[in-house]
Amino acid sequence: TDPLPDHVDVCVVGGGQSALALAFHLRRAERRRSGPALRVLLLDSRTHPGGAWQDAWPSLRLFSPAGYSSLPGRLMPRPPGDEPPDAAHVVDYLADYERRYDVDVRRPVRVTAVERADGGLLVRTDHGDLRARAVVSATGTWDRPLWPTVPGTDGFEGEVLHVHDYRGPEPFAGRRVLVVGGGNSGAQVAADLLGTAAAVHWATRRPPRYLPDDVDGRVLFEVATQAVRDRASGREARGVGSLGDVVAVPPVRAARDRGDLVAEPMVERLTEHGARWPDDREEPLDAVVWATGFRPALAHLRGLGLTWTDGHPATGAPDGSPFAVRSADGVPLWLLGYGDWCGPASATLIGVGRPAAAVAADVVATLDR
Ligand code: FAD
Repeated sequence: TDPLPDHVDVCVVGGGQSALALAFHLRRAERRRSGPALRVLLLDSRTHPGGAWQDAWPSLRLFSPAGYSSLPGRLMPRPPGDEPPDAAHVVDYLADYERRYDVDVRRPVRVTAVERADGGLLVRTDHGDLRARAVVSATGTWDRPLWPTVPGTDGFEGEVLHVHDYRGPEPFAGRRVLVVGGGNSGAQVAADLLGTAAAVHWATRRPPRYLPDDVDGRVLFEVATQAVRDRASGREARGVGSLGDVVAVPPVRAARDRGDLVAEPMVERLTEHGARWPDDREEPLDAVVWATGFRPALAHLRGLGLTWTDGHPATGAPDGSPFAVRSADGVPLWLLGYGDWCGPASATLIGVGRPAAAVAADVVATLDR
């Protein structure tokens, strides 16, 4: 990669959809301001565009149709056929989006730390350091899978992996697999394994709540929109989680309707060669897949002396905005795309646009003060 500049106005950590949506809105905010153009630079640890979508398993399907999975300014093209887009389609879309808006991204550059410095922040990377008047963290969650603690895991002699490392059913042909987790990933991976694995057990802590079949990400976005309105008017906001856990995308719906995708209660423990349920039933297993979610990848912010709450820096909403995207510690740092705590549906393609616009407006207002 070219040598990094020694200073920029805005440094964005990450080069996935959240960072791209922000770059779009910063570019748009630029048009409304006079003065020299802001120097905006995205630093992404991956070698190619597309963020975490590059690591998703091939059969993963978006829980929304293309038109409801678009970043600001550019509709995601509909894929052929009626199926919702797969991860490869999203990667192509994000790479095209980056080219279309001529976003300045440096890859592969990993930000190792962000520190306080005169006039802004010091961004340390594996390709040297740079100063920035403002830093926006948009590093996603993919790099921080959440591993559950289930008794007996250490003694289990089969294979154990997180859905972060799941790349399709082929390696599990003829094997007996336990999938743990009642969200979209658990449902989609369990459905994906059916027909290839010799046995699939899908264990969830509570019976999975399917969204109604005619409901997909569009409704999730409408619920998120209502949550934004409620927050803005000081009413209690209902998160999208209240609606349900699993969008019945076609492969999941087909497996469920065949009666092949049936959730079992959570296992009590793993044994050397299998799992045991609370009713003492035991099943032999060759592999376990944890579809137990992710946490925000924020290690690069640990050295900033911030106030942390629920595993992330405390944030507040810029004046009048319903999105708590700005560090509450008075440093020129914003956080984008991590989930409801920094904006309802902010961790979705369709949902990140609004908090990104709020970050862009606040960054520009802050730098122009
Ligand atoms: P990412 O895509 O993870 O991009 C962050 C980028 O920052 C990555 O390139 C990463 O390498 C880089 N990075 C991380 N740390 C550093 C660092 N220290 N320095 C430099 N670069 C760094 N959303 C939907 O809208 N529809 C769906 O159907 C949907 N399905 C999902 C299914 C799964 C299994 C998961 C996990 C998520 C799903 N999401 C879905 C949610 C969300 O859209 C994705 O998680 C998306 O990848 C989030 O985009 P992002 O840009 O915030 O993060």
